[in-house]
Amino acid sequence: LMELNREHFAALERVLPAERVYFDEAELVEFAGDKWGRGDLADVLVRPRSTEEVSLVLGWASSHGVAVTTRGSGWGYVGGAMVRRGGILLSLDRMNGIREISGNDFVAVVEAGVVTGELQRAVRARGLFYPPDPASAEHCSIGGNVATNAGGPRCLKYGVTRQYVLGLEVVLADGRILELGGRSHKNVTGFDLLGLFVGSEGMLGVVTGATLKLLPYPAARLGVAAVFADLAGAARAVQAIFEAGLLPCACEIADEFTYRVFQRMNGEAETGGAHLLVEVDGSVAGTLAEIREVEAVLLGAGALSLRMALDEAGVEALWATRRQFSLALTASRAVKLNEDVVVPRGKLVELVRFAGELGKRYGVDIACFGHAGDGNIHVNLLLDSGEGAEAILDELFRQVLAWGGAITGEHGIGMAKARWWREAVSAEVDEVHRTVKGALDPLGILNPGKWL
Ligand SMILES: Cc1cc2nc3c(=O)[nH]c(=O)nc-3n(C[C@H](O)[C@H](O)[C@H](O)COP(=O)(O)OP(=O)(O)OC[C@H]3O[C@@H](n4cnc5c(N)ncnc54)[C@H](O)[C@@H]3O)c2cc1C
Repeated sequence: LMELNREHFAALERVLPAERVYFDEAELVEFAGDKWGRGDLADVLVRPRSTEEVSLVLGWASSHGVAVTTRGSGWGYVGGAMVRRGGILLSLDRMNGIREISGNDFVAVVEAGVVTGELQRAVRARGLFYPPDPASAEHCSIGGNVATNAGGPRCLKYGVTRQYVLGLEVVLADGRILELGGRSHKNVTGFDLLGLFVGSEGMLGVVTGATLKLLPYPAARLGVAAVFADLAGAARAVQAIFEAGLLPCACEIADEFTYRVFQRMNGEAETGGAHLLVEVDGSVAGTLAEIREVEAVLLGAGALSLRMALDEAGVEALWATRRQFSLALTASRAVKLNEDVVVPRGKLVELVRFAGELGKRYGVDIACFGHAGDGNIHVNLLLDSGEGAEAILDELFRQVLAWGGAITGEHGIGMAKARWWREAVSAEVDEVHRTVKGALDPLGILNPGKWL
């Protein structure tokens, strides 16, 4: 890729309106990196307002061989939006409009920079539902969610972002604009190119717009929080829920360590035990019957205490508690490395046990919580500094892969997990990734220096 000076980039101001192009260090710093790290500074920050402007930027970058790193909100957890090779940082934050919400077609048509939580509220006001619910929803963008195929607690019942992408507007590396899919809820014309771009971490094209599938907003949401003697007991209770033929929309688990840190932070009496949150949603009568069944299953599985939430406000209060687990861990130590490994459901208890042993062996605290129903557990390394973490993660990831799991279930590879990419996939899978990348971005200008 070309090394260019400020004069070269100034040419961008002739391609775009000048107020889209920023050279000031303060702005370059403000937009640098994500929640994993800051990385290098770009040579220039560009904040386009339309797909056509994105196309002009990429066309210009292609013809000059300049690197382009795309950024949504910078709330990623793996350094995906970090700049590695200078060039252009392309922020989609100003393309944040909701173009349409259609109750007839059950779709929302949005620009990529729209904040996920804002979209959720806008569709909710129309009685509609956009289920994907990353915990970062108040900050992250739909474009970022598409680029990382984001998930969240509700994935258990509703699936991940990919299941809601009906159409995409993508600008290719050379500036061509690609319209994929549309507003039909089914479409199998040709290869699943939508799927190819979902989860592509800004390396195959820039998503500028999306048509998303919506559902009717559930008439009722109920929940229950339970405390079990230990995490194995809570995990067995999740299994018992499924065995009873029930599919809650979320089953969130937290180990004894996490729950204790949370109680301590809030000045609550330390009860000990592991925490399980279950939410059900659907019709008014159906959810009432279902939550009673869940209650019976939890008691039968040895729950020590239960807190029932029989209306939406109550469920939100349970979630407010659950959301504090991560914050409490963050506040408890200088460094928290949040890994989002996923294992086959049946390996859940073994994963948590393994993480505990790993922590003992290395003399570090490791806290586990997350999406029990999906086998997707956030394994948090709590450290005084980041030093020595790689050896622990080597062991963790190797074991997860040996169980048939994956090193990332939600956050992606980015920079944080680049080191483990070749262990996580076969030589053939790596080669096909490179072939696809080479076909769509032959100059390698999109998000260079990451895991491929
Ligand atoms: C506290 C916290 C909680 C989180 N909880 C969850 C969770 O529950 N579930 C989950 O899945 N993730 C979670 N995340 C991770 C993160 O929020 C998601 O990965 C989210 O999708 C990132 O969106 P963003 O707009 O911030 O993307 P960014 O961080 O800006 O970018 C992420 C990646 O996507 C690419 N990208 C961004 N926009 C585009 C675009 N328009 N076109 C092409 N490529 C693009 C970037 O190049 C980068 O590789 C959490 C993060 C934090 C900090």
